[in-house]
Amino acid sequence: MKLFIVLAAVLVCAVAVRYDGYQTLRIQPRDPSELEWLNSLKDDFASKLDFWQNTGRLDRPVDVMVSPALQTFLKEALEVRGISYDVMIDDVQAVADSQMHRDVSISAASFDYTIYHTYAEIQQWVKDFAAEYSFVQNFQIATSFEGRPINAIKMGTAGFQKPAIYWQGGIHAREWVSPATVMYIAKSLAEEYGTDDTVTKMLDTFDIYIVPSLNVDGYTYTWINDRLWRKTRSTYGAQVCVGTDPNRNYDYRWGGQGASTQKCSDTYRGPSVHSEPEVAATTSFLLNLQQTVVNFIDFHAYSQLFLSPWSYSAFAALPTESVDHDVASVKVVNALKAEFGTEYTYGPSARTLYAASGCSVDWGFSKLGAKYSYVMELRDTGKFGFLLPASQIEESGIETFAAMKALGGHLLSEYAP
Ligand SMILES: [Zn+2]
Repeated sequence: MKLFIVLAAVLVCAVAVRYDGYQTLRIQPRDPSELEWLNSLKDDFASKLDFWQNTGRLDRPVDVMVSPALQTFLKEALEVRGISYDVMIDDVQAVADSQMHRDVSISAASFDYTIYHTYAEIQQWVKDFAAEYSFVQNFQIATSFEGRPINAIKMGTAGFQKPAIYWQGGIHAREWVSPATVMYIAKSLAEEYGTDDTVTKMLDTFDIYIVPSLNVDGYTYTWINDRLWRKTRSTYGAQVCVGTDPNRNYDYRWGGQGASTQKCSDTYRGPSVHSEPEVAATTSFLLNLQQTVVNFIDFHAYSQLFLSPWSYSAFAALPTESVDHDVASVKVVNALKAEFGTEYTYGPSARTLYAASGCSVDWGFSKLGAKYSYVMELRDTGKFGFLLPASQIEESGIETFAAMKALGGHLLSEYAP
């Protein structure tokens, strides 16, 4: 146990970028001019403000992280304009530090699903988990830009040409609850196989492919250098800024609305479609699969949303399948809420949140042909944002598993022989 406490302390000390005294403010603009003013700050103070939530709509608040140097200015500017705000996180660094603390010992025999894990621990979990269950296999699905293996699991009992399900976590590095929740779901599926009727039918009918942590370079970087890193760690030629937003890099409407051409932007689309090896390898794996993929889910955080195509435009005609997407979504959000009362909103992505092109959800639907393609934004709604305390992992896991079981029931009603 001592070893892990020392290790955790070393990890905390090694973080290069610190957020001491940084706050997150939740701001509620009331009209388009206030929204426009907030957006102008984005350009003026790029290095001192980090917009955690995009500023696209008046019916959603804006969450922004502010450096100590800019706090007085921003608060005064808001007060002068009569715009209300709340301090959501008083000290970002303190909350980030608390996420890395290990109060429990970890051993290979008992993986602790209630704490956040490092890259190495997650990859090892994939192997250990597969070794534990006869209906789980592990394999390396990709290699990251920096050369790290990206492990995946396949869950399902033997069968011929079974329809497939694909779930991935951790495409955005700082969204730690995503890998944690995805692993929790996998564990729950395995544990309930043979005892729960829906779970048993799910694994007998489908093969479920799961990548718990896709953006492993970025994820490693969040543990060692910068807790709030979002993108990959790729570089192309001589460039000041590192990284591509892998969820703007997919081959569908790449380079459209809501994706940046600027390498320093957090939504940089990359130099070309599928330039990111993590995206290239997983998409080609899925396209080469000799199985029909019926469901694709990309797990993110935060906002508590369950979103379907389209992501690239709020004005594009919805696909005819949209009616069925909503039918399944209602089941998902209701089952999720039944556990702890957590409310999720569902709907077409761009119409519900904001337009973003080159996203996985649109690619999964259009290019892969997965009828039920979604992007899920997990807990919370902004109290902690990307820094969700580890104490919430278990509840997130339980409720999201209930949601996936409800979705499984819907998929079974449509695809079971
Ligand atoms: Zn995300």
